[in-house]
Amino acid sequence: IRGLGKSFSIATGLFSQPLELKALQDISFSIKKGETLGIVGESGCGKSTLGRCILQLIEPDQGQVLWLGQDLMKLSGEEMRKRRQDLQIIFQDPLASLNPRMTVGEIIADPLRTLRPELGRDQRRAKVVKMMEAVGLLPEMINRYPHEFSGGQAQRIGIARALITEPKLIVCDEPVSALDVSIQAQILNLLADLKDEFGLTLIFISHNLSVVRHVSDRILVLYLGRIVELATGNEIYDDPKHPYTKALLTAVPIPDPKLARQRSIDALRGEIPSPISQPSGCTFRTRCRYAKPLCAEVRPPLETIGGDRLVACHRWQEIEVPEEAMVEA
Ligand code: SF4
Ligand code: MG
Repeated sequence: IRGLGKSFSIATGLFSQPLELKALQDISFSIKKGETLGIVGESGCGKSTLGRCILQLIEPDQGQVLWLGQDLMKLSGEEMRKRRQDLQIIFQDPLASLNPRMTVGEIIADPLRTLRPELGRDQRRAKVVKMMEAVGLLPEMINRYPHEFSGGQAQRIGIARALITEPKLIVCDEPVSALDVSIQAQILNLLADLKDEFGLTLIFISHNLSVVRHVSDRILVLYLGRIVELATGNEIYDDPKHPYTKALLTAVPIPDPKLARQRSIDALRGEIPSPISQPSGCTFRTRCRYAKPLCAEVRPPLETIGGDRLVACHRWQEIEVPEEAMVEA
């Protein structure tokens, strides 16, 4: 993904000019084959828009989305339809994303009608049964309707539908956020197993850093439509550099009381500003306890800081919390 940008125009009333909502700005990163890349940030930070722009479900305004060297943004509708087989999505609200008038079998088989039209009825059915088994659904459920299923089972149906075209990359957009906590781990484990079984690459979107951490090799942190940090799961968790990442971590429970105290210093303050009127300089400065005058004037560049780790903060090197502060806090 290179230099990706997306804005939406917001109508504000009959007599006023529409406002420009900058949903994504200057997004560049790559995904490695077979990895799980987590995307984390508060709601409204652009996570879902990014996932949809990568899959071309939303058309980006700028940049490139290179898939195996081919720019998806340059493909015709017909060419993109063929690529669609490789690129699938799992949605947040499983029940809402399933057509209530279709049976489970019809729902799971649906992508095959357009993407694999050469398959006959029996071949389609055989594939559906195989996928139902892979996601832990009984094949005899094939003629039932979505309302007969729990949220967790409905998400298994959504996962089977995403897998049926044998995709290479799946964007999982908050796939467990709508589920009971007791079911979340089951679905996360299922996704991890399926990833190994089918050799998938996953983009895993969540507002919850503990969920993302559980499944991701690397984690990309978004704030107001920009990347503020990108690092491995361990780096993000053990040694976060950006004040926003530190703040998100304070919401993740940890057993060590000393560390918990240190983290409480960084707890997130205030509300996320409107993406329509973003702060000058560093957009996180209105909530950052480390902000100084420079932060209002100059936007911190996204710097490479060793390996392929990225951070966008003027002060990332100076803001280690001192040992004394930890004890006092
Ligand atoms: Fe905080 Fe300044 Fe770093 Fe932004 S650039 S995160 S305001 S210290
Ligand atoms: Mg979202």
